[in-house]
Amino acid sequence: MLDLILASGNAHKASEFAELFDSKVISIRAASKKLEVIEDGSTYFANALLKAEAYYQEFKTPVLADDSGLNVLALPQELGIYSARFGGEGLSDSDRAHLLLKKMEGKKEREAYFICVLCVYLNPKEIFYFEGRLNGSIGHSYRGSAGFGYDPVFIPSEAEGELSLSELNDWKNKNSHRSLAAGFAQKFFLNRS
Ligand code: IMP
Repeated sequence: MLDLILASGNAHKASEFAELFDSKVISIRAASKKLEVIEDGSTYFANALLKAEAYYQEFKTPVLADDSGLNVLALPQELGIYSARFGGEGLSDSDRAHLLLKKMEGKKEREAYFICVLCVYLNPKEIFYFEGRLNGSIGHSYRGSAGFGYDPVFIPSEAEGELSLSELNDWKNKNSHRSLAAGFAQKFFLNRS
């Protein structure tokens, strides 16, 4: 069994990840303290590695780090690795989702996808990456209250109907970019042991 600390001080995120893994294969716990890591990489992979390295250096134990975001084809420079900062400081998740709807007004190209990159950092010589992707489009209105971030304005292509990710919470838990990346990691380490 692989015992990992999560490169985040957020206990809620640690319990979310713990649910995505079979604890007989990968066990996740929160780090005992949150580190301030400057995420100035130019890719999801680089940012996940920056977080993993910082936590490994501090705690000297294997780490799971993640980086994720929403890529919107019509706004190629604006979200992606900058999704959490879209629109600048001081905005709430709901403000950002509404801003995205505003910027998409009148646009025909609405394709978008979420990416999650996981970095499993066992030591400086054994670093593994896993990527999950969820395809969809940006809706025309703000729908639903579950989930977080851009869930209310994202319509997954594979789910039934025109429902937003916020309205598909159970479906999201099994099919999200995060859940897919976790599944790839789990399969890899199961076969490796
Ligand atoms: P981070 O990986 O925690 O830095 O998150 C990046 C940002 O991407 C979040 O703040 C959200 O705005 C967005 N994001 C990532 N995953 C999701 C998701 O599952 N639903 C909605 N928004 C997400």
